[in-house]
Amino acid sequence: MKQSTRRNFLGQSALAGIGTLITLPTLGALLEADKKAGVNTPSPFKTGFDQQPLPYAYSALEPSIDTLTMDIHYNKHAAAYSKNVKEAAVAESVDITKPLEDVLGKISKYSVKMRNNAGGHYNHELFWQLLSADTNTQPSAKLLAAIVAGFGSLDEFKKQFTGAATTRFGSGWAWLIYNSDKKLSIVSTPNQDNPLMDIAEIKGFPLIGLDVWEHAYYLKYQNRRADYIASFWKILNWNTVNDRFNSI
Ligand code: MN
Repeated sequence: MKQSTRRNFLGQSALAGIGTLITLPTLGALLEADKKAGVNTPSPFKTGFDQQPLPYAYSALEPSIDTLTMDIHYNKHAAAYSKNVKEAAVAESVDITKPLEDVLGKISKYSVKMRNNAGGHYNHELFWQLLSADTNTQPSAKLLAAIVAGFGSLDEFKKQFTGAATTRFGSGWAWLIYNSDKKLSIVSTPNQDNPLMDIAEIKGFPLIGLDVWEHAYYLKYQNRRADYIASFWKILNWNTVNDRFNSI
């Protein structure tokens, strides 16, 4: 046996040995585990506790969202949620190598600090992925069919979502979710709550989330929340929404 072949053989034997000890969970098993935990999040979209890099430049979403707002929103507000949720995890013995969704699904068992910051971190990590400099993305045929079935038309959906975002009193979020009845719903939540939380009035897997805290738009839009929401539709990354919907 040549040296290199022998090394290969030994390497494979060692891997086979590990394989008998560790069984990697299949996607199906992970989804089943999620279901038992009451958390309706497909595994490819699990969220960690660290802030991920912004997937575009601060200026990329001009003029819909201005550069300074993006910079402060990402580096100050969102960064603080990530820092604070990790602090709360240490204080409350949460394993941060596990998905954040595990905590969200039983958030009523944790502190207010955990609720505010676990929600804040999750919501922002999702929000950045939902925005894009590409103003030409579209809902997939499959998602469009579900939207038409649920709301009548894409325009009617946007109207109803805009209504939820506009009328959310004070700070909060508007959502399009895939709910436990396997249907699309538009909901809104106060503060940094979200539809994955066990305390949410209507629970489901978020497909779209829109931040309507004043910190998300005040520098450019001041009191004109409706104008900010109108701009959101231009920069909504439907590709992300389609991927999330396809994963269900
Ligand atoms: Mn925000």
